[in-house]
Amino acid sequence: MINEIPKVRFAPSPTGYLHVGGLRTALYNYLYAKHNNGEFILRIEDTDRNRYVEGALENLIESIKWCGLEYDEGPGKEGKYGPYLQSQRLALYKKYSEELIEKGLAYYCFCTPERLEALKKEQQQQKLPQAKYDKHCLRSNKAEIEAKLKSGIQKVVRLNVEPNQKIIFEDVIHGRVEFDSNNVDDQVLIKSDGYPTYHLANVVDDHSMKITHVIRGEEWLSSTPKHILLYDFFGWEKPVFAHLPLLLNPNRSKLSKRQGDVAVEDYRAKGYLKDALVNFVALLGWNAGDDKEFYSMNELIEKFSLERVNKSGAVFDLEKLNWLNAEHLRKKTDEELLSLLKFEIHNNLELKSQSYSDEYLLNVVNAMKERVSFINEFLTKSPYFFITPLEYEETAQQKSWKYETPEQLKKLRNAFSLLNNPAKEDYEHALKNVAAELNIGVGKLIHPLRLSVSGMSTGPGVYDILHILGKGEVLKRIDTAVEKIK
Ligand code: GLU
Repeated sequence: MINEIPKVRFAPSPTGYLHVGGLRTALYNYLYAKHNNGEFILRIEDTDRNRYVEGALENLIESIKWCGLEYDEGPGKEGKYGPYLQSQRLALYKKYSEELIEKGLAYYCFCTPERLEALKKEQQQQKLPQAKYDKHCLRSNKAEIEAKLKSGIQKVVRLNVEPNQKIIFEDVIHGRVEFDSNNVDDQVLIKSDGYPTYHLANVVDDHSMKITHVIRGEEWLSSTPKHILLYDFFGWEKPVFAHLPLLLNPNRSKLSKRQGDVAVEDYRAKGYLKDALVNFVALLGWNAGDDKEFYSMNELIEKFSLERVNKSGAVFDLEKLNWLNAEHLRKKTDEELLSLLKFEIHNNLELKSQSYSDEYLLNVVNAMKERVSFINEFLTKSPYFFITPLEYEETAQQKSWKYETPEQLKKLRNAFSLLNNPAKEDYEHALKNVAAELNIGVGKLIHPLRLSVSGMSTGPGVYDILHILGKGEVLKRIDTAVEKIK
C-alpha cells in the first residue's frame, strides 16, 4: 500500500444539504489527496431508502463544487471504479454477503421485529450495557435455513462476531484504539429490503475502489471495529484510518442546527465567500503549527497533513468566520470584486433591472472595499450608489441641516454646475471657495452635502462620492435635498 497513490473518498449520505461538518470531511480528504498527488473520489451512500430526499444529490454536488472541491471520480465523472451511487451497486454487496455466509462469518436471521423488541426489553431489564442480538438464528441447522429461505419470510444477514476478542487498530489521529468484541453487536449487513447497511457497503466499496485512507468524522469511530472485522473476514488489507474531531457549538455541545446555520448553502446564501468558508472550516481541527490563520486553497494544499489534526473537539466560532470573510474579501482584486458585485446586483430584486457600467461599479468597489466585510454590504452600506436616497438619516438631519443650509447648498450647487467634467479635486476646490465666500468652515458644507447626496452621515470621502455619482446626479440630489429641508 505504501507505494500506491493515495486514494481517498468523501462518502456522504444525501440528506438534502451539505453540513459544514461534511464540508470539513470533504475538504480534509481533498487536501490530503492534493497534497500527496492522490485521487479524491465522491461516493454517495444512499442505501437508506427511508431517507431518500428529492434533489439531495444535486444539491450536495452543487455545494461541493461551489467550495472548489473538484472530485477526480464520482457521479457525473465516471472513472474506473464506478458506479458511485451505492444504490447502483447492490449486486456487489449481495455477492460479498453470500461469501461471508458461505464461510460462516455471517448468517441469515429470520427473527421477527416482535422477537427483537422482546429481547431488547429483556436485556434492558437485566441492565446489560447495550442491547445485542443473541445469535438465536445462528443455531438453526442447514435444513431449517433452507426451508425458511424458500418460504420467503423476511430475513436479514448478520455479521457473526466472535465473543471475547480484542479488536485493535491504529488511527492516525487517535493512536491505538481498542474495542472488546463483546461490545460489538452482530450487525445487520443486508436489510430485509435487500439493501446493505452502511457497514457492509462502506467496507466493500472502500476495498473495491482501492481507498488507501479513510478520513471521516469521529462519530464513525465506534463503527470501525465492525469494519475491521469485515476486512479481516474478507482477508482484505485495511486502509489507514483517521477520525476527525467533533465540531462543537461555543458552549461545547455538539454542533447543531438549533444554534445556527449548519448547511453550506445557508452560508452561501448569506453572502460568505467560498474562500473564507473553506479557510475557516480547514482550521476546525487542524493547524499548521504556527499562528497563521489566513489561507488560500493552494496554501492549504501545500501545508495540510493528517498528523496535525487534533483530537479534541473544534469550536465553531462565527466571529472568526466573519473576520476571515472580511480578510478574504480585501485580498480580492478589484476585477474579482466587480464580478461578485455584479452577481449580487443581479440577484437583487430592486436592482436587477438597472444597468451600471463596469467603470462605475469599479469606482464603487474602490471606494468601499475597505469598509465592507461581505459583498452584499456594497449594497447595504452604500445604497446611494445604486438608488437615489429617498430618506435622510434622522439624527444627521438635526445635526447638519440648519436654517441657513438650503441657501448654502444652492451656492454650492451653482459652483458645481459651472465645473466642466470635474475630477475629485475640482469638487473640493469649488467647495473650499464657496466656504471662503460664505466665511464658514468647510465642515459646515461637507456634512449637509454628504447627507444630501447620500442620505447617510458616514461613508467614503465626500469628494469620492461626488465624483462617482457624477455631476448631473449630484446637482439633482442637491435640488431634492434643498426642497426637503425647506
Ligand atoms: N455515509 C457516511 C456518512 O454519511 C460515511 C461515513 C464514512 O466516511 O465512512 O458520513
